[in-house]
Amino acid sequence: LKFVHILGVPFVHTNQKDFIATLEERIDKQEKTFVVTANPEIVMHSLKDQPYKKLLAKATYITADGIGIVKAAAIIGEPLPERVSGYDVMLDLLESANKTHARVFFLGASEAVLQATVKKAKTDYPGIKVVGSQNGFFDWNDHQLPQQIQNMKPDIVFVALGFPRQEQWIGTHIDQFDKGVFIGIGGSFDVFSG
Ligand code: UDP
Repeated sequence: LKFVHILGVPFVHTNQKDFIATLEERIDKQEKTFVVTANPEIVMHSLKDQPYKKLLAKATYITADGIGIVKAAAIIGEPLPERVSGYDVMLDLLESANKTHARVFFLGASEAVLQATVKKAKTDYPGIKVVGSQNGFFDWNDHQLPQQIQNMKPDIVFVALGFPRQEQWIGTHIDQFDKGVFIGIGGSFDVFSG
């Protein structure tokens, strides 16, 4: 896949459909994957915050989440096909997991939103295997959570901690995991369950 650099951030040159196919292939091959769905706010933050920029450098793919990024790419003469948002990727990955009976872990949001999200996901996508969930208000110094996730061997981990926490959490722990697509999806659980 090709990349388009915007203010130092390498965006993957792909559309929604092809990107999902790429992720499905990586899930199939058990290749660990860190996905950042980046909006202009994330790009601006990476300019000011060096540690955050270092975390972004660990990402396998950074997608253009927002029309602002797609427009910026057009302006610099390296157009991106379309917006690839966290929410849309989540829905398509659930659809795909439903068919393949993939193992899914839900991380983030309030306990009420998380429970509603898990319930709706199980109802709408009965083929998925929910291997665990954890609300987004936990102690980051407690090593139990990454260990629990590693033990459950999820194929997909949805991380809905909001920006920049989700990239910080995935970037900090990604080396500890053997496989799985880890994707930061902001407030998607609130939208999905709402
Ligand atoms: N969130 C969380 N842990 C936190 C802070 C926020 O899980 O410590 C969740 C919050 O409940 C919501 C999502 O992250 O579901 C997005 O939060 P917010 O709107 O603050 O983030 P942003 O829109 O800036 O990404």
